[in-house]
Amino acid sequence: MKTIELFKKKTVLSFEIFPPKRTNPVDTVYDTVERLKDLKPDFISVTYGAGGSESNADTLKIASAVKNDYGTESVAHLPCVNLTKNDVLEMLGKLKRAGIENILALRGDVNPDFAPKNDFKYASDLISFIRENGDFNIIGACYPEGHFEASSLIEDIRNLKKKTDAGASHLITQLFFDNGYFYSFRERAVIAGIDVPIQAGIMPVVNKKQIERMVSLCKVDLPKKFLSMMTKYENNPSAMRDAGIAYAVDQIVDLLAQGVDGIHLYTMNNPYIARRIYEAVSSLID
Ligand code: FAD
Repeated sequence: MKTIELFKKKTVLSFEIFPPKRTNPVDTVYDTVERLKDLKPDFISVTYGAGGSESNADTLKIASAVKNDYGTESVAHLPCVNLTKNDVLEMLGKLKRAGIENILALRGDVNPDFAPKNDFKYASDLISFIRENGDFNIIGACYPEGHFEASSLIEDIRNLKKKTDAGASHLITQLFFDNGYFYSFRERAVIAGIDVPIQAGIMPVVNKKQIERMVSLCKVDLPKKFLSMMTKYENNPSAMRDAGIAYAVDQIVDLLAQGVDGIHLYTMNNPYIARRIYEAVSSLID
């Protein structure tokens, strides 16, 4: 099923997972998929490292297993910075043969170890190319606090409009810890004429190292309330985990009350945390 159909019926709840690191066999992720499937997500998306690592073949394998073996709709991420047009055509053929209908089309970040291929400059170029070369449902990424390379929020929203004009049928946000950013972003999107569903990406924080890595990668703001929580529990892992879950639940309850189109949970391949959050919010999702 094309994921855009889901938004016509309900508030969408989806999970994101990543392929295991190269040192682990791909099969190690299937226990996670099995346990996430029990929570009946609307879809599970599988990331793809833009750096061109070998484990990228696993994205296709896992997205295919999610759909064909576990019976859950899947989305394959596809960052284009290190791909040629031929690479993308090849991948589209593989996705089609695997029955995968949904692609999260991304630019990816430039990795200093790999020279960019320059066939696609922006995600919107990839979106147009996919539309011309297959019948896929295409999803785009968006940034409530603005993408770190954009010179202003206005420029970023104008660029986002190019993605939806090119054919992105729905958007998923980068993680954020202050819902205020999401609501302001949603208003800017409406003013810019972006009228596709926007799913809020929520990351439950489980340890300080994880958040430091995320903040350096994504450049998101950490509100005072969040920082106090981190400081108080940083040396108590189980309390930190529970506080991180409570914080994510609080964000989600507020987003649902404000009529969000959907929640996309960055599960970090941790089905225990996904279950705790699911149990806290599932009765609120209609
Ligand atoms: P773009 O939409 O191309 O935007 C990049 C920058 O260029 C922005 O500053 C934008 O304002 C600007 N821009 C866009 N279009 C134009 C234009 N036409 N003219 C001028 N400027 C323009 N990365 C991975 O490697 N693998 C993943 O699996 C992955 N999954 C992700 C999932 C989600 C939900 C999100 C939010 C991000 C994900 N990323 C992933 C990270 C993403 O690749 C990076 O954030 C990357 O820096 C930007 O990708 P993009 O697709 O948003 O790029």
